[in-house]
Order: sequence, then C-alpha cells, then structure tokens
Amino acid sequence: MTNRRNFLKNASLFTLGSLMAGKVGNAVAAQPASPVVSATTASKNIGLQIYSLGGELFKDVPGGMKKLKQMGYATLELAGYGDGKVGGIDMMEFKKMVDDAGLKITSSHVNPPVGEYTKSNLNVIKDFWKKTADDHAKLGVKYLVQPGQPSTRSVEETQYVCEVFNEAGKIAKAAGFPFGYHNHDFEFAKVVPGGNGAKFGRHNPGESVYDIFLKNTDPSLVLFEMDVYWAVMGQADPVEYLQKYPDRIKLLHIKDRAVLGKSGMMNFESIFKQFYANGNKDYFVEIEGMPDGRTQFEGVKDCATYLLKAKFAK
Ligand code: MG
Repeated sequence: MTNRRNFLKNASLFTLGSLMAGKVGNAVAAQPASPVVSATTASKNIGLQIYSLGGELFKDVPGGMKKLKQMGYATLELAGYGDGKVGGIDMMEFKKMVDDAGLKITSSHVNPPVGEYTKSNLNVIKDFWKKTADDHAKLGVKYLVQPGQPSTRSVEETQYVCEVFNEAGKIAKAAGFPFGYHNHDFEFAKVVPGGNGAKFGRHNPGESVYDIFLKNTDPSLVLFEMDVYWAVMGQADPVEYLQKYPDRIKLLHIKDRAVLGKSGMMNFESIFKQFYANGNKDYFVEIEGMPDGRTQFEGVKDCATYLLKAKFAK
C-alpha cells in the first residue's frame, strides 16, 4: 500500500511539474522537486563539517561542492588545513571552489602540532596559531576551532591547557574571530589534583576535563563547539550543558552514530530548542563513516534531508 501511495504521489508531482513547465511528456520537466528544495534550503542554515566526506570530496572538489549545495547545505566547516592548503589544495583555490558553488566557509578545524602542552613548547604553539589565524582571516571564517584534545592527566595539566587555549584565543581575536574548542567523549572523564590519567565513572572522584575547560578559560577568548553525539558517548547530557553554559557553547556538531535520527540515542529536538533559546544558530552536521557500505556523500545527503524535514531545525 505504501508503495502504491508513493507511486501515486510521485505521479501527481510529475504531472504538476510537467504542467508548470508547460512541457507534458518532457523528461526534463519531471524534476519539480528542485525549486521546492531551493525555497526550503534558502531559509535553513545547515552547515557541514567536510571531514564527513573523507577522501570522497577530494576526487572532485568543485563537483562535490555543487552536490552539497543541491542537498541543502549552506555553510562549511573545514578540516584538513595545513600550511596554507586544505586537503593539499591551495586554500584560496579551495575557497574559490566553495564560493563558486554558492557555499560559505564559516569555520575550520585545526590542531596545533603538539599534543602535550608545556611551558617550553608554548611559543611553538603560539607561532602555529599566528600563521593559522592569518591564513584563516584570508579565508574569511567566523570561527577557528581546535578539535583535538591535548594531554589532560591531572587538574594541573588541564588548567595549563586552559592557559594555552586563552593564548590561542588572543591570537584568533586579533585576527578577527573567536577561538573555539570541540570535544569528543574523553573530555567528560574526570581528573584529580596530581592525577596520572582521566577516568570515567560517576563514582570516581574529581571533575570532568570539560568542566575545567569551561571554568578556566576566558569567556571573552574561548568558545565551545559541543559535539552532541560525543557528549552523549561521554555520559553527558548536551541539553543540561546548553542550559548551564548558554553563553559559552556557541556552536554545535549535529551528529548521530551515523545518519542523523537513525539511532535511538539523540534527542535533536530538545538540543536545537535549547541552542536557539540561547540565541545561537551556527551548527555543522558530521558523520564519521557509513556502517552500511553506502558512500559518505549518500550519508551526508540523508542528514540534510532529515534536517530539511525537521521543523525544529532552522
Ligand atoms: Mg565532531
């Protein structure tokens, strides 16, 4: 019955589209959905973290960008910046490919070259952020975000990481945009003074690395991009954090186990509702691989379709 109903619905769309185009019987006219999709997408601010496409994107970047625009994406968050290039392509050439497709680069994920922060490598990190921030000013981003967690084995080490984040924030601010931090799950493990490793578990003593980051970074220098899936995987409630830190969590990674809305884990409606109530609007879809053998482009398309249909997503 469902198939028959869909068939009838599609048949009527075909007829309507053909009539509107004034070309009954012309196969080209049988695409009435595209103007409808364009009208819908124009009103939604759907972003994509390009890591979601893996190597598929770099087989044909201009073609891939056009596909993303067609799917309903409006903005991009880069991954793969390094030394003036994005995925090996000169960054200004890459920007032109994005611009030509009618998309906009609004954010970028970049990690400094060291994973353990010490007083002796602080200048290496600062120099890296200076060059990176200058390049991103040319790209015209709104945000520069670090997605990788440095070593945080104790409260003291975690607090020092916060000092380094503040320094990165000063450098980004001087270039014209804020610095942000993106989490995975391990930031929700707890550390203790003098500790030798963060531990999960509600019965363990200590404070979560994420809470220490929030409390010890300067709100005028460091914002947070909450990856809501990894927060849940870290046994945390994204809505609770959005309520508690409305002025700190300015960006979201909208992510599920794979395609949005397919698992039973994520309450995106509550998450979006609180995010918008906090006065924020920029978010990026992310998938980290498709478990069913389909391509990442297909997964990314399904995510856009989910958000275009979702009344709670703008
Ligand atoms: Mg993420």
